Parts: sequence; C-alpha cells; structure tokens
Amino acid sequence: MSDCLFCKIVNGEIPSNNVAEDEKTLVFEDINPKAPVHLLVIPKEHIDYKDSEIDYSIFGDLMAMAKKVAKEKGIDDGGFRLILNSGPDAGQEVDHLHLHVLGGTSLGKMICI
Ligand code: AMP
Repeated sequence: MSDCLFCKIVNGEIPSNNVAEDEKTLVFEDINPKAPVHLLVIPKEHIDYKDSEIDYSIFGDLMAMAKKVAKEKGIDDGGFRLILNSGPDAGQEVDHLHLHVLGGTSLGKMICI
C-alpha cells in the first residue's frame, strides 16, 4: 500500500534498523522502544489484521521469525513478550500487521491500561 509506513520500510523508502528478514517477513527495531529489546516482526506483504479475509498461515512465519530473533538477541533464556495491537482501544498506530517482540528485562505481568 503506497501510504503505509511499514510498506515504505519494506520497500526501503523509509530507513529502518533491520535485524533479520526472509522471503515473507522483515524484522526491525521499534523507533520508540519500550524495553531494552523491542523489535517489530512484519509480513512483507501488506496485511491488515482487522480485514475479514486473511491467510492466517502468515502467523506461522511471524511466530517462527519472532522466536529466531529473540534467540539471536539473547532474550530467549530470560523470556520475552509478543504483542499484537488491534484497533484503537489497543492503541494501534500502524494498520500493517506486526508483532512486537519485547524483552531484555523483567516485564512484569500483563500490560493493562
Ligand atoms: P502499534 O501501536 O502496535 O501499531 O505499533 C506501531 C509501532 O511502530 C510503535 O511501537 C512505533 O513506535 C513504531 N514505529 C512507528 N514508526 C516507526 C518507524 N519509522 N520505524 C520503526 N518503528 C516505528
């Protein structure tokens, strides 16, 4: 999508600190990190999780990539959190599907309000 921030990152139109990529996914550092390690794992294809028709097989690729980069960043032993924000009540800013990978410190219990 031409006006999508993350599509522009995939296309190289907007700079990003990339951590990993494969055929279907890209991982880069969040510009406003909420933990010592805060990565975004996205499909290269524009997918809006709120759409009714999604090929959910992409989640296998995203989850596998999240686990791989967590290991590479050394946060798999201590543990990490994956977050998917959907819609305004979750504070979603970018419509392009993405998983947040957060770790590198004790994150406490679930984040609510
Ligand atoms: P969400 O609120 O789940 O939609 O998360 C969007 C995330 O994208 C936020 O954590 C932002 O800090 C992050 N973000 C916004 N612009 C950029 C950018 N240019 N590069 C990296 N991360 C970004």
